[in-house]
Amino acid sequence: MYHSIYGRNRVERAIMMYKNQEPNGYIKPPPGSRTFRELGITANFTLNSLYVEDFENPQMPSRKFIVVRSQKFTVERPKYYFIQIKGNFIDLVSSNRPGTYLGYCSCKDYSRRCKHKRAIEYKIQNNTYDFRVGDTIEFLTLNLKF
Ligand SMILES: [Zn+2]
Repeated sequence: MYHSIYGRNRVERAIMMYKNQEPNGYIKPPPGSRTFRELGITANFTLNSLYVEDFENPQMPSRKFIVVRSQKFTVERPKYYFIQIKGNFIDLVSSNRPGTYLGYCSCKDYSRRCKHKRAIEYKIQNNTYDFRVGDTIEFLTLNLKF
């Protein structure tokens, strides 16, 4: 049940978030902004960035975190995850391997590359690369099983 709504694995869930696609049967989260006073940041969510925050934000170059909305955003209390940037944002977005610039994520998935980190990586790679070969194979292999 969980899998058919949110995506079958971390890769598929991350792809859904990256593509601004809501879980099956859910309402798409609306665009909007949210300020986190404790962190001194405001995250903007636009039509093209409904889960991973919009990078067209003057704060980004000095940010230490990227904000990602929960996939359950419209069915539970709106939840946000914070993913640490190791180094600086400009290096992260211009890297061929953005994953190496992503540190801690506040979600409870302790995998090295949780769906939030992957969604950020996919967003960054969008214009230059498609998915990493490993991810594509993982995704295709999974589809063959169903
Ligand atoms: Zn996470």
